[in-house]
Amino acid sequence: MTETTLIEQMRNWRHLLHQNPEFGHQETQTAAFIVDKLRSFGISNVKTGIGKTGIVASLRIGSSDRTIALRADMDCLPIHETTNLPYSSKKANLMHACGHDGHTAMLLGAAARLTSEGGFDGTVHFVFQPAEEWGQGMQSMIADGLGSTIKFDEIYGLHNMPGLPIGQFETRAGAFMGAEDGFVITVYGTGGHASRPHECNDAIVCACSVVNELQTVVSRNVDPADLAVVSVTSIAGDNVKNAISSTARIEGDCRHFSDEVSQKIESAIKRIAIGIAAAHGCTADVTYDRVFVPLINDADSVDHCVTAANTIFGPDNVNANGAPMGASEDFARALTLAPGAFAIIGNGDSAPLHNSGYDFNDDALAYGMDWFVELVRQRLKPKT
Ligand SMILES: [Zn+2]
Ligand SMILES: [Zn+2]
Repeated sequence: MTETTLIEQMRNWRHLLHQNPEFGHQETQTAAFIVDKLRSFGISNVKTGIGKTGIVASLRIGSSDRTIALRADMDCLPIHETTNLPYSSKKANLMHACGHDGHTAMLLGAAARLTSEGGFDGTVHFVFQPAEEWGQGMQSMIADGLGSTIKFDEIYGLHNMPGLPIGQFETRAGAFMGAEDGFVITVYGTGGHASRPHECNDAIVCACSVVNELQTVVSRNVDPADLAVVSVTSIAGDNVKNAISSTARIEGDCRHFSDEVSQKIESAIKRIAIGIAAAHGCTADVTYDRVFVPLINDADSVDHCVTAANTIFGPDNVNANGAPMGASEDFARALTLAPGAFAIIGNGDSAPLHNSGYDFNDDALAYGMDWFVELVRQRLKPKT
């Protein structure tokens, strides 16, 4: 198959996936489509149900035991599409607003070419992960053997990026994308009549003090050289206009680039919430969840990514020292299994990710596919 024909096919696959988006861990039609394509290329070793709806297809050529994993994501977002494109989502309130349709098409294209053309010695695992958006998919694949029974020496992934011109590539050694933690503080007081505050312990007034003091979590606890954000995003009481609240619920979101900072934030939030509550004659419970871990790129793997990108994108279009991003990415957990790296590629002047007007740019398909193929051929170079 010529590359032009393959790129036309990838475009068609992408549009079909775009029309039929599926939320995380419900990607049954998407997975069936991917499996059908992989088998049609001639890949027989296709494992399904890895992390509920995830897929790992393995292609071995030659005699080397070296193994590389390439990952794409498959899930969509609960957003109602407003692009009016001819291939818009057919489903209300579900949309490929992060371009995972494009990532899947690129990895399928790479699988098609590597199967038909070879050019490497070893094994490639094509990993199609579910449920990236809510940070559950990679954990579920790991629980089903990714990285243990399905082993690899290195793993790589990419994401499209609006605002970065088409044909540009960016990555960074070390911390590249942020972790996301979530917290819920419940303040318990004693409610009562709004006219008789002296008989109550007002949970709302207490919660307001907690929210104010939470502004010191980063400014007084985290090294100024480390990046950290703590945002209170929701506060609610008993919701009765003429009654003093007996409880108040505070929810928030934290971003950072290291486990050490995460621990500091958690302990400061707990100390402040429990201490302030006691000062008001109330009590408080705090739950703290680590949803996304920080994405830390292995330095040698970044060099490999950049070498392959220099060939495909051209050295003038490759930035090996991009700025760290506060956004989170579930691929981070894959980097706890083996050395590897994550990169971003240009999506041109499109609407932002997670916006109802966003669309993946089909002109990026060939770049991503070619980069995956080049990376495999460089990392699993046949002995001459
Ligand atoms: Zn996303
Ligand atoms: Zn995404």
